[in-house]
Amino acid sequence: MTPQEFETAFPKVMGWIQQTLVAHKTLGRSVTSKNFKRLPLYFSRTQIEAAKFVVVDRVPVPPLSAIGLYRFMEFERGDYDGITYLDTYFLKRSGADDESLHFHEMIHLVQWRLLGAEFFLAMYAGGLERFGYRNSPLEKMAYDAQELFARSGPVFDAEKLVEEKLSVL
Ligand SMILES: [Zn+2]
Repeated sequence: MTPQEFETAFPKVMGWIQQTLVAHKTLGRSVTSKNFKRLPLYFSRTQIEAAKFVVVDRVPVPPLSAIGLYRFMEFERGDYDGITYLDTYFLKRSGADDESLHFHEMIHLVQWRLLGAEFFLAMYAGGLERFGYRNSPLEKMAYDAQELFARSGPVFDAEKLVEEKLSVL
């Protein structure tokens, strides 16, 4: 994707994200309401309190081909367990109680916060284009951390981990 293409698409994608968040506002729940026992060991209280999630039948994906980004058609058609926009993540109903899925989306939430919306989307799109969904750097980071979490090994500071990994990308 050229910088010009990104510049044209970015406000459209952001507009769609804002609309999607507004449309689901009443369905949003606080992550603290889940009373997860392990999540607070990995994320700061501030980060957990800032997070919201919405349970849906199918997670919303931006209409990228309608925006002219046809190369992401495969991603657009995908059926994902979760997706994160700014401070809110969407989960498929089947995964709503899965603490490790919440953990995965919380990693994306930290990425959004540290990178800011424009860098997050530029990096996510670039990674998707070059490596595909599963191996794009921001996804790989979330999947790797989720695996560590699921394995229940030593507790780590997940926000610090994201910060360190972003600094060497
Ligand atoms: Zn992910």
